[in-house]
Amino acid sequence: MSDAATAGAILTIDLQALASNYGLIRSTARDAECGASIKADAYGLGVGRVAETLAEAGCRIFFVAHLDEGTALRRQLPAAEIHVLNGIPSGTERLFAEHRLIPVLNSLGDIAVWAEFGRANGARFAADVHVDTGMSRLGLPPDEVAAIAGDPGRLADIEVVLVMSHLACADEPEHALNRRQLEAFRAARAALPMGRASLANSSGVFLGPDYHFDLVRAGAALYGIAPAPDQPNPMAQVVRLQGKILQVRLVDSPQTVGYGASHRVTRRARIATVAVGYGDGFLRSTGNSAVAVLGDVRVPIVGRVSMDLLTIDVSDAPDAMARVGALVDLIGPHNPLNDVARDAGTIGYEVLTRLGPRYHRRYLGGGRNNA
Ligand SMILES: *Cc1c(COP(=O)(O)O)cnc(C)c1O
Repeated sequence: MSDAATAGAILTIDLQALASNYGLIRSTARDAECGASIKADAYGLGVGRVAETLAEAGCRIFFVAHLDEGTALRRQLPAAEIHVLNGIPSGTERLFAEHRLIPVLNSLGDIAVWAEFGRANGARFAADVHVDTGMSRLGLPPDEVAAIAGDPGRLADIEVVLVMSHLACADEPEHALNRRQLEAFRAARAALPMGRASLANSSGVFLGPDYHFDLVRAGAALYGIAPAPDQPNPMAQVVRLQGKILQVRLVDSPQTVGYGASHRVTRRARIATVAVGYGDGFLRSTGNSAVAVLGDVRVPIVGRVSMDLLTIDVSDAPDAMARVGALVDLIGPHNPLNDVARDAGTIGYEVLTRLGPRYHRRYLGGGRNNA
C-alpha cells in the first residue's frame, strides 16, 4: 500500500459512518435481524476492517459470494454465521463443513449434493434454500419449489436455516415487480415453512415492514449507496477519494485537452492534471461527465480519463487552491458517490468495487488504532 505523501490519491474509509449506517438499517428493519453482505472485499472497501467494524456493531450474520471469501472470513470471525451465496460446487462439500460455512442451495442439483453429503456423514448440515421470485438468475423457480414441497424427503437430510429470495427492483420503490415478488415469496414460504425467511437487500429494507421477514441482507447502503437513487440519501457517506494535482496550466482556444481531443477549450481556462486514472479503478466514463470538487468549488472533469491521469477545469477556483500538491475530491461531501456514479452512467456498486490497490487507504474511526 502506498504512502499518503507519495500516492496519487488518498481513499478515506469512514468506519464510524459504516457503523452508523448499520445502526440505521437495523432500526429501520425493526424486529428483523440485520445481516451484512460483504462479498467482493466488502464492495471494495476492505473486508477485514469492514467485517471487524460490523461485528463490533453487533452484526453476527454475513453473506459472501464465494467459498474462498467464506473461508477467509471464518479465520477472522470464528463465531459468525457465514452464508455463501454462489452455491456449492460439487467436490467442495467438505470445505464447507470444515469451515462451518452455510451454502445457499440455488438448484435441485445443489440440494441433492448437500443432502447426499449429510447422509454420507450421518449428519444434517445447515444450508439455505434460495427460491427465484423474479430475478431469473439463481434459485429454484416455482415448479421446483412445488417439487421439493411435494417430496419432503429431498430436504430431510438438510438443516434448512433460511429460505430466501432476492428482489430485482427494490431501488425503485414504485416498481410493480416488488409487490409481485413479495407475493411469490409468500407463496414459496407457505410451501417451505422451515427455518427463517429472508427477502430484502438494502433497498428492500426501505420498502417497508412487509419486506423484512426474519432477516434482511444489507450491503450497498452500509457503504453509503442510496437505497433509492431518485430520493434523498439517508445513509452516511463512507468513502472519500481525493486525487493530487500534479500540474496546472493555462490553455486557450483553439487548444484541446487529452486523448482524442474530446474537450475543446472555448475560453482562457486553467486546467489541472490529477494523478488518478482508470488504471487506479476510477471509471473512464467520468471523462467529460463527472464533477470534481476543490474546496467547495465544482471543477468539472474535462477530456478523457487516461490510465494514470485525468484533467479538471479549475478556472473557477482561486489560484491559491488550484495548485500543485492540492487534493481534489473525486468523491466527497459535495460530489457524493451516487452523483459520481450517475454522471459516469453507472451505479455506486460499480464505482466502489473498482476502487483499486494504488490508492493510499486510510481508515477513520472503528475500534483500532488507524496508523
Ligand atoms: C449482494 C446481495 C445482497 C446485498 O444487496 P445490496 O443491494 O448490496 O444491499 C443481498 N442478497 C443477495 C442474494 C445478494 O446477492
